[in-house]
Amino acid sequence: ATPTSIMVGTGRAAEMGVLFRKGDALQMLQETTVVAVDKTGTLTEGRPELTDLIVAEGMTEDEVLRLVAAVEVTSEHPIATAIVRAAETRGLELPEPEDFASITGYGVRASVEGHTILIGADRLMSREGVEMGALSDRGAELAINGKTPLYAAVDGVIAAVIAVTDPIKTTTPDAIEALHGLGLKVAMITGDNAATAKSIAAQLGIDHVVAEVLPEGKVSALQDLRSNGGKLAFVGDGINDAPALAAADVGIAIGTGTDIAIEAADVVLMSGDLTGVVNAFDISQRTMRNIR
Ligand code: ADP
Ligand code: MG
Repeated sequence: ATPTSIMVGTGRAAEMGVLFRKGDALQMLQETTVVAVDKTGTLTEGRPELTDLIVAEGMTEDEVLRLVAAVEVTSEHPIATAIVRAAETRGLELPEPEDFASITGYGVRASVEGHTILIGADRLMSREGVEMGALSDRGAELAINGKTPLYAAVDGVIAAVIAVTDPIKTTTPDAIEALHGLGLKVAMITGDNAATAKSIAAQLGIDHVVAEVLPEGKVSALQDLRSNGGKLAFVGDGINDAPALAAADVGIAIGTGTDIAIEAADVVLMSGDLTGVVNAFDISQRTMRNIR
């Protein structure tokens, strides 16, 4: 590529809200064959809502929600926000939690009114030796429908399955179609439940899914997606995404993301959705075509 065509390309990109922080990113994008995308906050709004609450025998919805929300007040995860909001909507008074612990990629734990409360993914229950019984099947059904099932336990006994649903951004389906139109394969990387992720991927026509990835596992998940010769781009927004943004051939941070993600990226989008990714690829292909 000639310096002039690169300058024209990056200038045109900037006008469209796509900022190239590294000069060679324009060329790297043109050689890219796979775009891996973080799910939460990138494909979806990142603002889940509580949609289902199924309690075990002997428990009431309000009692479980009160205990679980008391724990989640301390967590900053979007799932926690959804649960606390649901409890507030019901006008529940939340007791003070003690000994709060976040188990990254699994869920959270605290003591509330002398009871040990656990809330998180099915793998948290397995890890802590909680039998999920019939609620396991209910959770599996929720996941098949694209909802994220979370399990709550009180003193080591299963108490409820709670589903949250994170709406897909309205611009996501068209953006994925456009990426396919540009000849790219699209992959999703997420810490979410595998069945939930597969359901969402199927709705969107996403080509590959890597799910139940622990935060420190995103970089190795990217290695698995590297295909014969082509370059790999990664799109993300969170603090968790910074190592993957740095490790990808082209790291693309969405502008609504965290500063740490933006600093690790080669390309920064002003917009908070995938439309900017389409523009970035489009501009790189045009720029590189012009010089031939
Ligand atoms: P992601 O960014 O994809 O949500 P995380 O590693 O943050 O990945 O979370 C992975 C999974 O761990 C979540 O899908 C959820 O099942 C569980 N989890 C994490 N934090 C919480 C929390 N505060 N409350 C309940 N579950 C949680
Ligand atoms: Mg995210």
